[in-house]
Amino acid sequence: MSRHAALLTSLAFVPLTLGLVGVGGDQPPLHELVTLGLAGLLTLAQLMMLLGGRSLAKGVVSVVMLPLLLALASYALPEYWVTLESWDAMSHGLAKGMTLEAWRPALLTTLSLILVAVLIVTHSQSTLGGPLLLIMAVLLSAQGLLDAAGSGAPLLRTAAGLWSTLSLALLLTGLSVAALPGWRLHAAPLRRALVPSLTLVLAVLLLWYHQKNVTERELHGTVAAEARQLGQRFTREVQDHLTAVERFANVWTLFDAPPSQEEWSRQATLYHRDFRYLLNIAFVDPESRLTRVYPPSEINLQVLGARLFDAQPAGREAVSRALFEQRIGRTDVIMLLQGVPGIIHYLPILLDERRTLGAVAMVIGLPMLAETLFSEVDSQHFGLVLSQGGQVLASRTPDTRLAPWQHQAQLDVAGTPLLLSVQPSHARLLQRLPRHPVVTLITGLTLAYLLYLVLHGYTRLARQHRRVRDTNRVLRREIRMRSQLQEEVEWLARHDELTRLPNRRLFMEALEANAVLRPLSVLICDVDHFKRINDHQGHLVGDRYLVHLGQIGRELIESTGGLFARYGGEEFVACLPRVDAVRALEIADTLRRQLLDAELQHHDGQRLTASIGVVTLVDGPLDVAVIMQAADDALYRAKAEGRNRVKAAPPLVIAERA
Ligand code: GH3
Ligand code: MG
Ligand code: MG
Repeated sequence: MSRHAALLTSLAFVPLTLGLVGVGGDQPPLHELVTLGLAGLLTLAQLMMLLGGRSLAKGVVSVVMLPLLLALASYALPEYWVTLESWDAMSHGLAKGMTLEAWRPALLTTLSLILVAVLIVTHSQSTLGGPLLLIMAVLLSAQGLLDAAGSGAPLLRTAAGLWSTLSLALLLTGLSVAALPGWRLHAAPLRRALVPSLTLVLAVLLLWYHQKNVTERELHGTVAAEARQLGQRFTREVQDHLTAVERFANVWTLFDAPPSQEEWSRQATLYHRDFRYLLNIAFVDPESRLTRVYPPSEINLQVLGARLFDAQPAGREAVSRALFEQRIGRTDVIMLLQGVPGIIHYLPILLDERRTLGAVAMVIGLPMLAETLFSEVDSQHFGLVLSQGGQVLASRTPDTRLAPWQHQAQLDVAGTPLLLSVQPSHARLLQRLPRHPVVTLITGLTLAYLLYLVLHGYTRLARQHRRVRDTNRVLRREIRMRSQLQEEVEWLARHDELTRLPNRRLFMEALEANAVLRPLSVLICDVDHFKRINDHQGHLVGDRYLVHLGQIGRELIESTGGLFARYGGEEFVACLPRVDAVRALEIADTLRRQLLDAELQHHDGQRLTASIGVVTLVDGPLDVAVIMQAADDALYRAKAEGRNRVKAAPPLVIAERA
């Protein structure tokens, strides 16, 4: 299996090489090269892992982690912590002229690569979250592909190029082939941990996507508002200027004669200084001749003396309006005599109700207007286009890739509508793009990973706990059985299995236990002609008789506080502490009679009888052999004298041993 995994993993080098060489496109950009390089190093690390070079592989992975974590931080840290300029300055330190955007891998690719790095160093173990890490990496790559296919120019690059994605896919396949057999062993806890944490991952991806869209929409709104404000401000400014120039025109009504060039220049200079887009402030005589110009620049002096009725037919109506109708005349955007497009306002200078002294021509040169307008906007961060009716009048460095970020504002240049397109630079947009969607993504994925670890650990612990409990139960049952067996063995050691009476050993122990009690009597009882029972009625009947006799003896003897035992074969003994010779004889005879009355019969109808020997120890130490011998002797006598009788040994006094 590991050979297959190694083979699959090394296949990742094919797209890597193709990507580095730049097959199927132009020379790949730097960030793509960085992505390919990092993916290549991770592929190498995984191969080392598979071939046993663990510490070397870990070293390679930590080298790869450094730029990845830097890139991730740059995506997640807010602008007011680390500005884009500082990131760019740092990048500049690495290579001259390089920016953050130039080198950092795409967001989702960065995350996938980090997941792969963790997968490699954790040997893809299921306990350490291997399956979840793998599926997350796959999901992120897939989301990246979807993103790349979706919008043409995403503000934030989320996915890497084709070759990097392909090599990452092969690397992930190799990793899963290497890890699958291990995961199969823990299928149950794995499934239980995987389902909830994967659900969380999907929810996080959805939330990230939603937040990303919302923040971009909001940014669009901000940019549009900015453009609108710019348009409004400029419209107001031009309006104010026009009012000022109207005042300028009124000044000349106080004069009876046309202004001299000096007077004209002295007054006009004040206005031109403030409103540089005024290409020319000219005096037009009633014949529509340009007799005064300001500033006296080369192109203005060229048009001095021109008769506007002839020279500029497009403005003829506006001039007539001022000179003959005594009202303000205004041209559309026309080609000026100075050779640039512009707008002219003619303001009449009145002599009386019917006659004019001439008119003030306020000539707005559109290139100058655009220059003034553009100079008010930070040229580093905005691209601008000034147009009218689809015709571009002036433009400054708009980034065609960011066309969706272009926002229009209507300008009203003293009654002439113009369109101003404002387009923030990529850097400017990135600066203002909120980071919380990325923070949501990173936090959510981390939480899902932790959830997996907790659930997996919990399920495994629960299984272990169950196993321990089962083993305990089996053990307890075993112990119970063994102690029962032990009790049985101990009982058997001191009892007779057939009659369930105490046996010879327990009888001896009872004697020893009562060693100091006096008087102490002992009976020995032997069934008469028992052999015949076996011979004629079989052993089973013999056994039954023995059991019956045992019961009768036990009841009687135990009622007197003694112990009745089977001595062996068809012989029984009784130990009677504190029973004297007379009482012992009585008890023995009662026993003999009760056995006789039991109506147990021989084959010929004769009743079963027993002979009993009695001995009583009156004084002296206990000597079991002496007592038993005395009892046996008494029994022998009872047999000898015709059976079915009790014989007592003479009361026994055992001498103290020296
Ligand atoms: P007596 O004591 O009156 O002299 O005659 P007896 O026939 O009882 O003689 P003995 O003591 O020699 O025989 C005892 C017999 O008891 C021998 C044996 O077959 C029988 N016996 C001993 N133990 C058992 C037993 O557990 N079950 C049966 N069925 N018979 C037993
Ligand atoms: Mg016997
Ligand atoms: Mg006998």
